[in-house]
Amino acid sequence: MPLGIMDGAVWRPVGSFGYGKGRHGQNVPLLFVDHIMSGFKATMDRPGWQEAAGISAHFGIGKDGSISQYVNLFDAAWAQGVVGAIGPNDRRGIEQYNRANPRLAELERRGEWRYITDGSMWTLTGGGVNVWNCAAVAIEHEGFTGEVWTQAMLDASCAVKRWVNDELASAGHATIPYSVEGIIGHNDIDAIDRPGCPGTGRDLGKMIAQLNAGGDDMYVRHNKVAEWFEARELGVGGSAGRGEMTARADFALPQEAKRVEFNVYLDSGNMSFYDGTRTFTDGPTLFAGEVGNRGVMVATITAALSHDGVVKFEWLGNTRVGRIVSLGYWK
Ligand SMILES: [Zn+2]
Repeated sequence: MPLGIMDGAVWRPVGSFGYGKGRHGQNVPLLFVDHIMSGFKATMDRPGWQEAAGISAHFGIGKDGSISQYVNLFDAAWAQGVVGAIGPNDRRGIEQYNRANPRLAELERRGEWRYITDGSMWTLTGGGVNVWNCAAVAIEHEGFTGEVWTQAMLDASCAVKRWVNDELASAGHATIPYSVEGIIGHNDIDAIDRPGCPGTGRDLGKMIAQLNAGGDDMYVRHNKVAEWFEARELGVGGSAGRGEMTARADFALPQEAKRVEFNVYLDSGNMSFYDGTRTFTDGPTLFAGEVGNRGVMVATITAALSHDGVVKFEWLGNTRVGRIVSLGYWK
């Protein structure tokens, strides 16, 4: 992969980045800025949508843990907005800017506050460009404010942040600390217009603990495999259903990989999985919504791994169709 593009993410480049438009190499990140999409990842993934909206982010992460990358890490995404106001005398946004965070305070010193009449807002401008967008990794997360993040989305967000720090180190830049100083929300910049971005659904303490717990167990997710499996039926379980599924990874499973993890959508809520050692019942499942009259179950199943790239597990119970939406490994 070229510098600044994550292996394991689906690269969906957008044209809306950089100052002026599309100028490369402007971002030297000091901060991770987490956002909530207030919508669906499929929308952000749609070609042309971000350009039309005049926005972009470096990454978009789905509830299923899938990762899209839209802008090279070292380019400026158009994500960290202005500080809201109802007029040039309304300085509440500036007052509430979180300069208690030393990194945000440092960025404030790099620019000056400018009121933009068109749109009635303040921004922080240095050298003619948005200061925040040239010093941040913008990470969008699927869903709406207040919805508790799925473990898969949290894992993927951590995987992105780890990759960013590896990439920064490779490029000779300082890494970003896994702390409340290094990981902020859009609301720390704009408490007036974006108070719920990313919102209470993000458990920041849990994220920081997970990131600091050590890198050996990080889940690496391969979306290319998910796309390859998307149209495949698992098979018919029947009322006495018991079946076996074999999945073949289309990437090399590294020797240090310990086990694989699938995220699977199924049309039945009456399922257990057996990976040869354990039976998973209700624990790893959650209900993601409704399709017609049926609940859709999202099951996360871990299974033993053979390094020839073949993974087998069994299911017990009733199911008809489903699809693997992602496959990854722990190392
Ligand atoms: Zn935001």
